[in-house]
Amino acid sequence: CVNHGMGLSWEKVDDIFLTKNPPAIKSIYEKPLLLHQGHMQWLYDHEGRRYLDLLGGILTVSVGHYHRKIVAAVEEQLKTLWHTTTLYRHSKQFEFIEKLTSKLPEKLQVVYLTNSGTEANDLAIVLAKCYTGHNDIISLQNSYHGNSSSMMALTAMQSFRQPIPVPPGFHHAMVPDPFRNEWGGCRDCISQVPDSCSCTGDCLSTDKYIDQLKEVLEFSIPNRRVAAFFAESIQGAGGIVQFPKGYIKRAQQLIKEHGGIFVADEVQTGFARTGDTFWGFESHGIIPDIVTLAKGIANGLPFAAVVTTKEIAEAHTKANYFNTFSGNALAAAAGVAVLEVIDDENIQDHCKKIGEYFIRQLIQLQQQFPIIGDVRGKGLMLAMELVRPGTKENLSDDCMIRMHQRLKDLGVLTGLGGRNLNVLKITPPMCITKEDVDFAVSVFNDVFKQFS
Ligand code: PLP
Repeated sequence: CVNHGMGLSWEKVDDIFLTKNPPAIKSIYEKPLLLHQGHMQWLYDHEGRRYLDLLGGILTVSVGHYHRKIVAAVEEQLKTLWHTTTLYRHSKQFEFIEKLTSKLPEKLQVVYLTNSGTEANDLAIVLAKCYTGHNDIISLQNSYHGNSSSMMALTAMQSFRQPIPVPPGFHHAMVPDPFRNEWGGCRDCISQVPDSCSCTGDCLSTDKYIDQLKEVLEFSIPNRRVAAFFAESIQGAGGIVQFPKGYIKRAQQLIKEHGGIFVADEVQTGFARTGDTFWGFESHGIIPDIVTLAKGIANGLPFAAVVTTKEIAEAHTKANYFNTFSGNALAAAAGVAVLEVIDDENIQDHCKKIGEYFIRQLIQLQQQFPIIGDVRGKGLMLAMELVRPGTKENLSDDCMIRMHQRLKDLGVLTGLGGRNLNVLKITPPMCITKEDVDFAVSVFNDVFKQFS
């Protein structure tokens, strides 16, 4: 049941969004879309047109727009209690923490509640510095970790760094990107096609990337002592980049030797998104020292968490940690419901199976269209990197924007990302069906034909 027809003209929409509230990424949106209603994997605009949501609010809407169980949980909370801060505790905070920690390794049982990925990563930096007594932080090139002034320093993606001075002590190591970097990487061992690789994970490329991380430690950091290394399990905003086997494990060990801890930014990769494991870090065979969570945690309500060890939390007790909205009861109720839905509806298993089906279809498209330079990802965190046929040259921004617009016109919403916006990102709500995948692939097929 779609309630639309708000009587708004596109001119008025354009005027309001361009003059009073500019779009986040100006270059992508040549014409704004005014969305009005959502139902599971579908979105409806103000004129009632339907779109398959392959972006999922940049992975926030984990189990579907207007998921009835989440709506019921939030509605119930709405009638009971909205907010108390973390000074006075309420039962939904308790329930959420209990459920969340039951999904995490035994070592990671101290939870801080907060509101966004940016705040979570900010707190992780404070925890790492308090615990280690060191100041320097390393993250990966082309990463995105948030947009506050300190996150702008941690984030290496140039398009999100304003040309202003950022806090000192942040360094960026080369991102192990098998498609883009000179050392490549074993394509098979990160492929989602089951059993396609028999390699041990000790690829030459992993050695090279680790050597480069060593160089950062040796030549950029005073005394070679570091507070933390931040990485995602799959680099999301940077273009859904999967790292060669063994890299994260060896990086964690190396950082430990230099006095630092490993922070897994699971803002995109948590909550079953990568299909074969509940947390992305599990697929690297490691246990991080700190995990930061946001996005899909509460199906789109602002909520986030930092999880760490008792020892690290104890080093952080010399001052208070507080922010007004953290632990909000509506968001916590949604958080509890998300964890229940993932279990009750076998979302992880569905995500793995539908993700495998999706990537196989994308690989078939790649065989037809040389414009698709690379297909990658895992679970429902997938991407196609688009290039000038026969080269690895990025498809131009102009072409990407027109393609994005065309997909939108045909009823498919995707994300654009990567270093140069030439990556089509596919991160839908995890309730997407095989029929939806077939629809999306037929639209991709039509659009690629026009652009080939
Ligand atoms: N970390 C990662 C990996 C992200 O993708 C993002 C946002 O896209 C953030 C942190 C920042 O989260 P937020 O936008 O909730 O502040």
